[in-house]
Amino acid sequence: MTGKTHASCGLLIGMYLAKDYGISFESLVIISSAVAGSLIPDICHTKSYIGRRIPILSKVISLLFGHRSFTHSLLFMFLSYYLLNMLEVQSLYIESFIFSIASHIVLDIFTSSGVHLFYPIKVKVRSPISIRTGGMIDSLLFFVFLGSIYFVFFKTNPYIVIIIDL
Ligand SMILES: [Zn+2]
Repeated sequence: MTGKTHASCGLLIGMYLAKDYGISFESLVIISSAVAGSLIPDICHTKSYIGRRIPILSKVISLLFGHRSFTHSLLFMFLSYYLLNMLEVQSLYIESFIFSIASHIVLDIFTSSGVHLFYPIKVKVRSPISIRTGGMIDSLLFFVFLGSIYFVFFKTNPYIVIIIDL
């Protein structure tokens, strides 16, 4: 799945979780955490959107774990949750970040190479139906996620529409 498909799914999750906070600092952090969470697993891939932004860290993780292993696992989700909790990050930001990591992993299960969900156990988890990264269904999902944001939030929230119209 491409970075923009993951990010659009993260944006949808973030906007859903931020829906009760209106236009506020909390909303901004929830949405940013969600988009970050949706992209962070691909840090293991040096050519990914996030990998190109933090090349040294990306290279190290790629060499240590390989692609779609540790950063696409339940262990990574658990450690991220544990670390953020230890740093006393607010639970709603942690929730947003972790849900988006989960969305990334679920979407990648639908790719032909699958993910090492149970890392360090070397078993690949993949769906019998695979979606080609950058293919038509991948692009369609991107538009479905963006369309969902538009219809669920902007069409049904006149307050936001008024602000956009200004
Ligand atoms: Zn991935």
